[in-house]
Amino acid sequence: MGGVQSQLSIFNIFRRKKTTAPIRQPVNFDQKLLDRDAIKVVQTIVKAGFEAYLVGGCVRDLLLDHRPKDFDIATNAKPEQVNKLFKRSRLIGRRFRLVHVMFSARKYLEVATFRSGQVKTAKSGVIVRDNCYGNIEEDVVRRDFRINALYYDINTHEVIDYIGGLEDINSRQIHIIGDPLVRFEEDPVRMIRAIRFQTKLDFHLSDEIKSAIHQQAPLLANISPARLYEECIKLFHNEYGFQVYERLEKYDLLKHLFRQTRKNDFIKIALNNTSNRIKRNKPVTPAFLFAIFLWQAQNERYQLIKKKQKSVYLSMSQASEEVIISQIKQVSLPRWLTARIKDTWMMQNRLERMQPKKVQDLLSNKGFRMAYDFLVLRSQSINPELKSVAEFWTKAQSEHHPESTHQSSKKNRKK
Ligand code: ATP
Ligand code: MG
Repeated sequence: MGGVQSQLSIFNIFRRKKTTAPIRQPVNFDQKLLDRDAIKVVQTIVKAGFEAYLVGGCVRDLLLDHRPKDFDIATNAKPEQVNKLFKRSRLIGRRFRLVHVMFSARKYLEVATFRSGQVKTAKSGVIVRDNCYGNIEEDVVRRDFRINALYYDINTHEVIDYIGGLEDINSRQIHIIGDPLVRFEEDPVRMIRAIRFQTKLDFHLSDEIKSAIHQQAPLLANISPARLYEECIKLFHNEYGFQVYERLEKYDLLKHLFRQTRKNDFIKIALNNTSNRIKRNKPVTPAFLFAIFLWQAQNERYQLIKKKQKSVYLSMSQASEEVIISQIKQVSLPRWLTARIKDTWMMQNRLERMQPKKVQDLLSNKGFRMAYDFLVLRSQSINPELKSVAEFWTKAQSEHHPESTHQSSKKNRKK
């Protein structure tokens, strides 16, 4: 640990300056885990006379024998030059200018030009523009963690390591590149990313990351709600969502995403349910996720409103609106999603009443399946008194709709 720390402080002094010669480690990646299209893109750029590598999370994951979620490419070619090499590509981004090479309506690969560390920051320290191009050595130090700063040379089959990423992979450690206080100030989302990688990879966070998170957590308030929405999906739509949740709580970060949410058993059982669905390749929807996180807050709000307002329906509706409005100030939610969240909540009461005349009506409601799943999970956690209600609806479906599916949604996302 001492060795790593002293290397880091030496590195801090030279940060943004030249680093020493890299380690080039020969590797033999499982061909089944490599993406053919990504290899082709790298080959095309190299053939045109530029440098290009697979970089970041995909190299990290390949070294750990995990299937990478996506493949990123880094090159010394400028975005316009990359754009010219691929018919089906487009320039995107303002803060970070990138090229997307399109393969289908759903699949594209991101090609980024090496960046130098010179970034334009706002008063708060947050990066507003980062378009100064550089060489690979400069590109290394603008990345977040050492494990994410590895480059794979597809021609020599070597991983190139300037910064100790390989050592960290071997010792299962996460170290930030440079001064953690500054790096978290530049981009507070890195704190959430640290927690996600720690959990996904089962790695240790360096002590300096832990203490910097403690200090810089409030900076998450400066991040746009739209970006935090994307981050939330990455945090919880995976096989380890509940562990991420527990760690975010532990580091007091959760309140920066869900200030109305308090720990409860429903969240635990529901996040584990989502993880199991993902493991079995079943569809999941962010509507379910947010409906779970906000349910208790909605309930508390409802109890207060109900005291003044007689109608259950109107009280439920008003409580739902208020909780959602408060949430989207932190994490923005698309309209279709808030409508589904509200639907799920509103249907709880209708399901609980089990009115025989309404059974068919409710079963054919397009929000039924999600509301039913929601009810079942409530009955297995915070509302054991609802077990018989859940059984009633399970039976009703087998009698009326033998082939329904859970949590399904056309707009499901699994990122
Ligand atoms: P995964 O795709 O599994 O979520 P990843 O590490 O590939 O993890 P991406 O968001 O795909 O994450 O980013 C690709 C790479 O870009 C990272 O590995 C890292 O090198 C760099 N990167 C991404 N986000 C940041 C950031 N906020 N600050 C610095 N570097 C970043
Ligand atoms: Mg990635």
